[in-house]
Amino acid sequence: MGRVYLVGAGPGAIDLLTVRATRLLAAADIVFHDALIDDDVLALAPRAEKVAVGKRCGAHSTSQRFINKRLVDAAAKYRLVVRLKGGDPMMFGRAQEEIDALAEAGVDVEVVPGITAALAASADLKRSLTRRGVSRSVAFVTPRIGEGEDVADWTHAAAAADTVAIYMGAGDAIAVARALIEQGRPPSTPVALIENASRPDRVVTVGTIASLPTLAAARGNGPALIVIGEVVRDVAAQPATAVRPRVAALR
Ligand code: SAH
Repeated sequence: MGRVYLVGAGPGAIDLLTVRATRLLAAADIVFHDALIDDDVLALAPRAEKVAVGKRCGAHSTSQRFINKRLVDAAAKYRLVVRLKGGDPMMFGRAQEEIDALAEAGVDVEVVPGITAALAASADLKRSLTRRGVSRSVAFVTPRIGEGEDVADWTHAAAAADTVAIYMGAGDAIAVARALIEQGRPPSTPVALIENASRPDRVVTVGTIASLPTLAAARGNGPALIVIGEVVRDVAAQPATAVRPRVAALR
C-alpha cells in the first residue's frame, strides 16, 4: 500500500515551495491538486498523473467525501500519492477530513507544511503581523461557512486579536466590514488587501475597514487576503505595474 502526503504548495511562487515538497513532487506517482495550484508547480511532478480536485470559492468543485475516497483508492494503487494544497494544508484546507479518512482506511499519511497566504502577504507588505508595542496577537479567520456547518461566529476572534488575517473574505467584504465595526473595531482601522500574494501579478490596495468594500470591489479574480490592524497602517499600495520581475524561479 502507498503513502499519501498532504503537501503545502505555498502561496503561488514556485520557489516558495519547501525542498521536501519539491522532492515529493518529483517522485510522485499521482498528484491530486486544487485549483489554486499553478502549472509551474505541477511541472515539478513530471512523472505523476495529475488530477484536479479543485475548489474555487463557490465554483464547481469536487465534493470532499469524493476526494477522500479517491485518496484512499489511490493509496491502494500507487506507491507515492501527493495531495497538493495551496498555502499550508492545515490552514483552511480541510486537511483534517482527509487525514481522518485515510487513517480510518489504514493508509499512512504525512503532512508537509507550506507557506500560508497570510505569511506571504506579510512578506509582500514588508509588515510584520506581530510587532512590539503594537500587535501581540494574530487571528487567522474566515467568514466562509461550509455546507451544513453552523454559523460559527468568526468575529469574536477578529475582535480579540490585534492583527486579523481574513481568508476567503473579499467576496463578502460588505458583510465583513459591517461585522468588524459591530464588534467594536473603529471604521478607521487600517486594512490591506493583497491579491495574488507572492506572485508576479500581485496587487496591494490599502484603506480602512470603512473603505474595505470599495477595495474588494476593485480587485481582480485572483485569491485575495485581507489584513486588518495597526501593523498595516501606512502601507504603500502596490499597483500591478509596480511589481518588479522576480528573481529567476527554480526550474
Ligand atoms: N491553505 C491555504 C488557504 C486556502 S483558503 C493557505 O494556507 O494559504 C483560500 C484562500 O486563501 C483564498 O480565498 C485567499 O483568501 C487565500 N489565499 C490563498 N493564496 C493566496 C495568495 N497567493 N494571495 C492572497 N490570498 C491567498
